[in-house]
Amino acid sequence: MEQIYDVIIVGGGPAGVAAAYLCQRKGLSYLLMEQGKTVFQGIANTYPEGKNVYPSKPREAPEPFLVDELRPPDKPVTVEKYIQYVQHFVQHENLNVQAEISFEDLKEERDVLIVQTDRGPFRSRKVVLAFGSSIPRELSVYGDAKMVAKTLDDPKKYLGVRTLVIGGGNTAADVIISILRAKREANDNQPVYWAHISETFDVNKEIAQRLGEEILLGGHIRLLPGATPRIGEVDDEGVDRLVIRINEFKQSDGIEIYHAMSFPMKHVIACIGSQGPLPIFDKIGVQTIACAEGVCRVAKEGERLILLTAEFESTRKGVYVIGGAISPSFMKISAGAIQEEKHPNLIYTAINDAYHVVEAISKKLGK
Ligand SMILES: Cc1cc2nc3c(=O)[nH]c(=O)nc-3n(C[C@H](O)[C@H](O)[C@H](O)COP(=O)(O)OP(=O)(O)OC[C@H]3O[C@@H](n4cnc5c(N)ncnc54)[C@H](O)[C@@H]3O)c2cc1C
Repeated sequence: MEQIYDVIIVGGGPAGVAAAYLCQRKGLSYLLMEQGKTVFQGIANTYPEGKNVYPSKPREAPEPFLVDELRPPDKPVTVEKYIQYVQHFVQHENLNVQAEISFEDLKEERDVLIVQTDRGPFRSRKVVLAFGSSIPRELSVYGDAKMVAKTLDDPKKYLGVRTLVIGGGNTAADVIISILRAKREANDNQPVYWAHISETFDVNKEIAQRLGEEILLGGHIRLLPGATPRIGEVDDEGVDRLVIRINEFKQSDGIEIYHAMSFPMKHVIACIGSQGPLPIFDKIGVQTIACAEGVCRVAKEGERLILLTAEFESTRKGVYVIGGAISPSFMKISAGAIQEEKHPNLIYTAINDAYHVVEAISKKLGK
């Protein structure tokens, strides 16, 4: 029979890794699933190269770091060093982590929660959602575009092939610079196509300069302004492809003439920004509340906040939400009242949330 875990943890950032470690210490059976290549993918994707990581703690917070093993050192280290340390820690502690699994939905079967992922269903008694605050947007096309990458893990993967990068901002430009550099170093002449839905690209001066440099050094880039991703399909040979319209001419009699390109999805990277976790909360049916006038101090009027108990349990029984996913504030139910609770998006908060949630879960499961 398929295993039923005590706890499934979604997201391998500071909150998720701390939760996994604490579950292990408590003797709970657990699985940590991370959609990236390894733990701390969220941090690797969002911090600038060489940024220092600080063990920041809100002044008014009464507790120390409750999982000292994951606390960033007092003498700040670079993000690369901190990630390396955490990866060693995960290996050394032999934590049960599965990378490259993406959480999709949550169902229930009697008392068991079914976590649906792109690798099929997993079952558990409790679920801890620790997927952070920055959820990459999906391309919206007819059909399915799930195979399209949302980040660049290794520029060398795109050597020898024509590559499509979608998105008009700094992240897309940064990805293009890395691929152009890898292609230049490998004497690869295949171009990188840069597509954006609007007619103009919008990058900052520093990135524009670096991109200009790569182009002057021989980088092959083809701009596709005003291009729209349209269809995700599987071709006759079973290859997942993305069809992108690169220009369209509407005739007066209603006929449309357009040019399109079709790329194997494995040669496409979509950097189209990120969004908060609200669409996921709606999808899985956990309740949120809109801030009425004068009620919230951190959130603005009309903003929706997730409703959680003091132990971070959502309105779906057995489903807990912690870390950046509930920052900068949530609605806390305690002693019959509901109040906005400030929740700074920090490694400290993420780790300490994990501590409190695992304590609460182990008590409930009698372990
Ligand atoms: C540029 C920058 C600098 C910062 N510097 C500091 C600092 O110096 N000190 C500090 O305390 N805080 C800092 N922070 C904030 C800190 O990084 C966050 O508070 C912390 O990472 C939140 O941890 P988390 O585990 O909740 O979420 P995250 O770190 O975002 O981790 C979530 C993980 O979930 C994964 N995930 C997402 N969706 C899915 C899915 N569907 N299925 C499976 N996995 C999924 C992601 O890939 C990611 O690895 C900084 C933030 C930024 C952006």
